[in-house]
Amino acid sequence: MKLFAKNILLSSGWAKNQVLTIDKGVISKIDSGSAEQAEYVLETVIPGMVNCHSHAFQRAFAGFSEQGSEGKDSFWTWRSIMYQFLEQLTVEDAELIATQLYIEMLKSGYTRVAEFHYLHHNTKGNCYEKLGEMAKALFNASHHSGLGLTMLPVLYQYSGFGEQTPNHGQRRFINSTEQFNQLVSECAELSKSTPNTNVGIAPHSLRATGKDAMVSAIAHVRSIDDKAPIHIHIAEQQKEVDDCLAHYGKRPVQWLLDNLDVDEHWCLIHATHIDDNELAGMVETGAIAGICPTTEANLGDGIFPTTEFMAQNGTIAIGSDSHISVNPVEELRLLEYAQRLIKQQRAILATNETPSVGLNLWQKASMGGAQSTSSNTGELAVGKQADLLVLDQSKLNCFATGEQYNLDSLIFASQTNCIKDVMVNGEWVIQDHTHALEADIQKRFSQLLTKLSNNQ
Ligand SMILES: [Zn+2]
Repeated sequence: MKLFAKNILLSSGWAKNQVLTIDKGVISKIDSGSAEQAEYVLETVIPGMVNCHSHAFQRAFAGFSEQGSEGKDSFWTWRSIMYQFLEQLTVEDAELIATQLYIEMLKSGYTRVAEFHYLHHNTKGNCYEKLGEMAKALFNASHHSGLGLTMLPVLYQYSGFGEQTPNHGQRRFINSTEQFNQLVSECAELSKSTPNTNVGIAPHSLRATGKDAMVSAIAHVRSIDDKAPIHIHIAEQQKEVDDCLAHYGKRPVQWLLDNLDVDEHWCLIHATHIDDNELAGMVETGAIAGICPTTEANLGDGIFPTTEFMAQNGTIAIGSDSHISVNPVEELRLLEYAQRLIKQQRAILATNETPSVGLNLWQKASMGGAQSTSSNTGELAVGKQADLLVLDQSKLNCFATGEQYNLDSLIFASQTNCIKDVMVNGEWVIQDHTHALEADIQKRFSQLLTKLSNNQ
């Protein structure tokens, strides 16, 4: 297949009048050329965004937790409501929610997701016949929607530091280390039969598992794939830092760096509460900071020191986590704005080489996201997977013109969806803002929401 792009954001920067040849989902050639040489003639093309952190089922919960109770609400009260909500979800429900969510992700410009998957067991907390039954629902959602998937089964064993017994709300998450490794093997088999997917693991957090279990799980997944991504919730809440200090005598990121062999395929989700030493240590390992700006704002987590981390060449990725927002534009906008509000300055997350904040953030986050999923995505170059977005030029033309402003207009100026067409792994999955399954899936999703809210 050949595509002609009038303006395209390649790894080397913006280029004009390029013809891309795509073979078996991969860009095999990029040449200067003309529209007549191609089957598809496109105006402005950018790389797709990778979503580094998702709990798919939480999309159905978005909006159900915004009713206040006189200043007594916190991350922990939100979590209790979320646990009640997921009690009733079946495998079929989970697949429908994920399919709806993945279509939404594609429409807003995500082309791959890392699924931090911890809803493993049935409504009574017992294993399904196959440990990977729930994971299979997510592989199915990826297959039907066309969104690339990095499956990260979650290792979850305790309710708090010191091997505290899991509470009732956590009964669907818990696996022994042996069961967990079996689950990872099942996911690796599912991945073989689902295109554009791979498998890593996610120890839930330092409070929910221990060192021996993590060492065993890492050895197992790395025996299957030596670049398997490893993600962990690390320091989302101040309470987590305090509990970790009380139990281990170290802050969470410090403990992790001192006790496990953290490398560039690790992604530390919500390294929000981090000190200067931890930040420098993290940069040294090459580990990625997985930042989820809208969820972190929604849950009152705090603000990751993105300016300092990026100034030291730290690698970032973005995630939509609880899916209160499903839109990379909104994540990147809030990422920058949080820094502006703290520092009372403007245009902070830019560099001398890339003075456009929008361009710098889009490129850094898409490439960091690719690294966080160990996937051959995140940038447009020969040998990379054809995961790309076509911008809606008629909408972008309402803002600053010239390709150097495209990403700034997309992220900061536009209030409507400027992603017109989306290609994943060489296949068109969104055309003219539309996914082939969206009408049917949305109807069924609305019915499910009615059922779930009646049970609340
Ligand atoms: Zn999370």
